Amino acid sequence: MQSYDIVIVGGGAAGFFAALTAAEATPNTRILILEKARNPLAKVRVSGGGRCNVTHACYDPTQLITYYPRGGKELRGPFTRFQPRDTVAWFGQRGVRLKTEADGRIFPVSDQSQTIIDCFLDEARKHDIELRTATRAKTIQAAADGFTIQISNAADIQAAKVLLAAGGGAAEAYTIAAGFGHTIVPPVPSLFTFEIKEDRLNGLAGISLENVELALTDTKGIAINGALLITHWGLSGPAVLKLSAWSARELAQSNYRSQLQVNWYPPHTPASLFAELENARRTQARKHALKTNPTKLPTRLWQRLAATAGIGENHNWGDLSNAVLHRLADELTRGTYTIQGKGVFKEEFVTCGGISLKEVDFKTMQSRLQPGLFFAGEILDIDALTGGFNFQSAWTTGWLAGHGMVL
Ligand SMILES: Cc1cc2nc3c(=O)[nH]c(=O)nc-3n(C[C@H](O)[C@H](O)[C@H](O)COP(=O)(O)OP(=O)(O)OC[C@H]3O[C@@H](n4cnc5c(N)ncnc54)[C@H](O)[C@@H]3O)c2cc1C
Repeated sequence: MQSYDIVIVGGGAAGFFAALTAAEATPNTRILILEKARNPLAKVRVSGGGRCNVTHACYDPTQLITYYPRGGKELRGPFTRFQPRDTVAWFGQRGVRLKTEADGRIFPVSDQSQTIIDCFLDEARKHDIELRTATRAKTIQAAADGFTIQISNAADIQAAKVLLAAGGGAAEAYTIAAGFGHTIVPPVPSLFTFEIKEDRLNGLAGISLENVELALTDTKGIAINGALLITHWGLSGPAVLKLSAWSARELAQSNYRSQLQVNWYPPHTPASLFAELENARRTQARKHALKTNPTKLPTRLWQRLAATAGIGENHNWGDLSNAVLHRLADELTRGTYTIQGKGVFKEEFVTCGGISLKEVDFKTMQSRLQPGLFFAGEILDIDALTGGFNFQSAWTTGWLAGHGMVL
């Protein structure tokens, strides 16, 4: 039976990073990467719209963990050992220059994810890491000196250590982990847009706002601030993605049907906006209400929301009753919309759920239940907001596992 020191299930971001870390830490380690797809690193290829947003310019672990709806607490220690600064240095030392964009996202200077893939494949060749593509790990059993791995297209192989780095939602790998007693937190999607079909939003697609506040009214979730985009199908943009991530599980449980409260004009509250609208009524009494927008909202949005609150074509500001002003203040600061489903965000999506973090030692990424078994990347119950944080978790946990396996 062919035998290796380390077998890595999954030739993705975390698997490669772990393999390279182990190979560099202890040369001559016999390492095999099993990848079920024809090509490795498929997600790296499509990531960041083909540009690969490798990490984020956030260098304080305490702040960094706030971008992780799941896994933040557990990543606190790991980020003191390998964080975005180390990622930038790692790629720099291997000839990949990175650049930071105004919003903090870090990309290769080439703007090509292929640069990252080439770097990994070159480094793997340099270290004699074996890669078998179109090869699936089917089952893994504990054996006398490690593990026996049944693969899809050849005889069983033997490994002293095994790293499961099979990504999010990889059913077979979850089954393998469960076979060693691991708990799988049910996987559900994170980072998606909201489908909303409401007359109020008809014809407004393309309008974007720099800052709105969103909250789900039927869960005890948090309020999220950020930019918003009205689309043909509903709502998208950073605030929506953030809320989808923080409420991923609740939204899955409700089958993506939920009530969304939108404050189009934060930090205004119904009361503070009412006062402002009263002022408009006083100072612009003879002006046409729909045409005289006292807010900084885009005019088309203002007109639509004002019409929804009952303001007609012929109304002047002076005609508006307190009841109408209250309705308008509510519509602008706490309008509710029915989410009817989830849409895709093509740039980045991840899995919430996976291997329960309680059962993993975050110093080495070794299983607390099965010695010699390790985990890295999105197979774990870790996921982040958009911006390069998901890859950072793959690099950090891959780096820890790489060291952990050659200890
Ligand atoms: C469209 C898209 C764009 C993204 N863009 C970004 C971005 O710009 N920045 C960012 O930070 N994050 C991004 N992400 C998220 C990021 O890609 C993932 O979080 C990251 O790839 C996770 O790395 P991983 O190695 O754990 O899993 P993966 O990269 O998914 O790799 C796991 C590998 O394991 C293989 N595998 C699974 N089961 C088996 C098996 N039984 N046997 C053998 N092989 C197996 C899979 O084929 C896969 O190649 C994006 C995600 C998507 C979908």
